[in-house]
Amino acid sequence: MTWGLYLHVPWCRRRCPYCAFYVEAAHDVPWDDFADALLAEYALRTDSVAGLPHTVFFGGGTPSRMPAPVLARILAGIERAPGTEVTAECNPEDCTQEWVDGAIAAGITRVSLGMQTFQPAFARLLNRACSVPDARQTAERVATSGFTSWSVDLMFALPNQTLEQLDADLDAIEAIGVPHVSLYGLTYEPGTPFTRARDNGTFTEATDDLWRDMYDHIVKRLRNMGLQRYEVSNFAKPGHRSAHNQLYWSDKPYLGIGPSAHGYLPTGERYHNAPNVTVYLQGGDPTELRESPNAEQAATDALVSGLRGVEGIDLAALAHRHGIEPQSAAVDRLQREGLIHRDNSRIALTDAGFPVCDAICGHLSDRLVPVGGPSKGPRTTT
Ligand code: SF4
Repeated sequence: MTWGLYLHVPWCRRRCPYCAFYVEAAHDVPWDDFADALLAEYALRTDSVAGLPHTVFFGGGTPSRMPAPVLARILAGIERAPGTEVTAECNPEDCTQEWVDGAIAAGITRVSLGMQTFQPAFARLLNRACSVPDARQTAERVATSGFTSWSVDLMFALPNQTLEQLDADLDAIEAIGVPHVSLYGLTYEPGTPFTRARDNGTFTEATDDLWRDMYDHIVKRLRNMGLQRYEVSNFAKPGHRSAHNQLYWSDKPYLGIGPSAHGYLPTGERYHNAPNVTVYLQGGDPTELRESPNAEQAATDALVSGLRGVEGIDLAALAHRHGIEPQSAAVDRLQREGLIHRDNSRIALTDAGFPVCDAICGHLSDRLVPVGGPSKGPRTTT
């Protein structure tokens, strides 16, 4: 059985003004106690899966704040399948040569750099802790240090950002030769300083048209650099796709450990850990919520995650597993409109469909019917 392991490291030096994740802004972190707690939770959960993990992903938060010897201790406690991809999300300021060497020795094979922008003015606006020249230097260090692969996070639709400014970020990605890019269109989450600034008129939010123009422009430029879209927001040169993220889009199980992590078990059960590091460090079962989705919800989850990937989803397999499929009339209509293409029972988004992926997923999810059910008309109105 192929499954992945996600470890959530919740600490950040400071909270970014657009971020609504569960994070703890702290200077002193009890790393050894945290490593013990992670390994204890891992031991608690491994009965739920068979065999060894095929991917491991340290996400956060800021996993690169974790000292390399602590990373090594955790990874020594996690037996892995041969050739397992082991990724750590990193903020550029943490990636000293010493940390990079220690991370590689510990077993990290891939890093995902939280660059976000190469423009000094936007880096200040986003409250990034690393200067742009230092971040570039980090990218060059990571590129030449012996990781199997590496990635850069790029944000777009920033406050008042123009297409020309976005182009300058893409020029930097091209100049550095980045092999994988994860894209984040800025969203204004409730309660963040960015949302307050938008609401009081300090920031101008990108219009839907500008957002779409930027997305299309990024896809085109990255394609010209040899970075092919393999998911709505992820682009890679050949051989550089993230194996861990592909598990999420292909309906494969994963264990999540750490405060606020969530998991998806082979039985279809989902769980969510409590977002509280103090309680987490006290040990015990951190599960806050368990749910076993019904067939309709499970089919919706599989459809929504599957359609995000460039390979799309096999509707016959969906029907076989869950006894549910989207109405053929709805699929036919999306195909006529050029938003999806079909290859036997597999459907996938077209270039025109990717920018409106959420709307297409919503449309099909609302038209799921039992296999052999009605072929016309929505199940619910939208
Ligand atoms: S570094 Fe990432 S997780 Fe931490 S506050 Fe900033 S955006 Fe949020």
